[in-house]
Amino acid sequence: MAELIRGKEVKAQIEEELKAEVEELRSKGVTPGLKVILVGDDPASHVYVRNKAKACDRLGIKEETTELPEDTPEEKVLDLIDGFNKDPNVHGILVQLPLPKHMNETKVLYAIDPMKDVDGFHPVNVGRLMIGDPDFLPCTPAGIQEMLVRSGNDPAGKHVVVVGRSNIVGKPIANILLQKKDGANATVTICHTGTKNIAEFTREEDIVIAATGWPGTVTGDMVKDGVVVIDVGVNRVDDPTKEKGYRLVGDVKFDEVEPKAKAISPVPGGVGPMTITMLMKNTVRAAKRTLGE
Ligand code: NAP
Repeated sequence: MAELIRGKEVKAQIEEELKAEVEELRSKGVTPGLKVILVGDDPASHVYVRNKAKACDRLGIKEETTELPEDTPEEKVLDLIDGFNKDPNVHGILVQLPLPKHMNETKVLYAIDPMKDVDGFHPVNVGRLMIGDPDFLPCTPAGIQEMLVRSGNDPAGKHVVVVGRSNIVGKPIANILLQKKDGANATVTICHTGTKNIAEFTREEDIVIAATGWPGTVTGDMVKDGVVVIDVGVNRVDDPTKEKGYRLVGDVKFDEVEPKAKAISPVPGGVGPMTITMLMKNTVRAAKRTLGE
């Protein structure tokens, strides 16, 4: 039986650490502050934002969400960001994606002060990660690294294959694990739809990270015995036995891969909770910086 790497457990550990850090910051007169901008009525976005607010509450971070209607002009969002950039009590700014179609997502995200970019998507932070001097790590990839290290599967010296090359998961996790740093220093291969034979790579690797958004991208015959697997995918598949008519599965065929694996993250229950946890970590980091820490 493979060990299950559960995000919930890693999240609980990190939240305990963050609570202590927030308390210390407060004792020095600084309350970490996060501003969230939510435009439109996307139900999933509303759920994410509510969960972010709950996490802030648990940790003592001051969170405020500005909800705007779908037809808000882009200028209004840019003005809000400008105000938050200038406010010393705001340490982190998050614009919930997706934005309505009439807005230029890139322009809006680039307007955030990189020092308050707790999502880690601003090109300054992407570039800093690339050159090995990161400030804010993007949340989901940073969470994957924490899951590996805290479950005793340190990637240092290991061969890692990342399947998927998106800007929010695949490329940054590959970059994080490549760095000559603690909890990284791995040899990293990235596969994608242009890779002719993905199994040729996955079969050789100690750690497989799947982030494609396609169920069954990694099957049992594609991995070696003793592999460590992080399944980032969250996919809905029809399931008439469920009340909602669907269930969530990852990008990895769990039933086939689990028996061969040393450790594997399940879906649901794996990477899921880590994104918000690392957002909290970045917000606390941003607040600490105001004290020069
Ligand atoms: P994305 O932007 O759609 O990117 C998917 C990447 O996977 C692309 O680089 C694509 O290749 C590659 N790909 C797709 N199908 C493939 C296949 N059959 N074989 C090899 N490569 C394939 O997706 P994303 O944003 O990175 O998200 C990936 C998955 O992670 C999704 O299921 C998403 O819901 C999930 N996710 C979960 C969390 C969380 O749990 N907290 C957070 C973020 C994302 P090309 O570049 O060649 O097109």
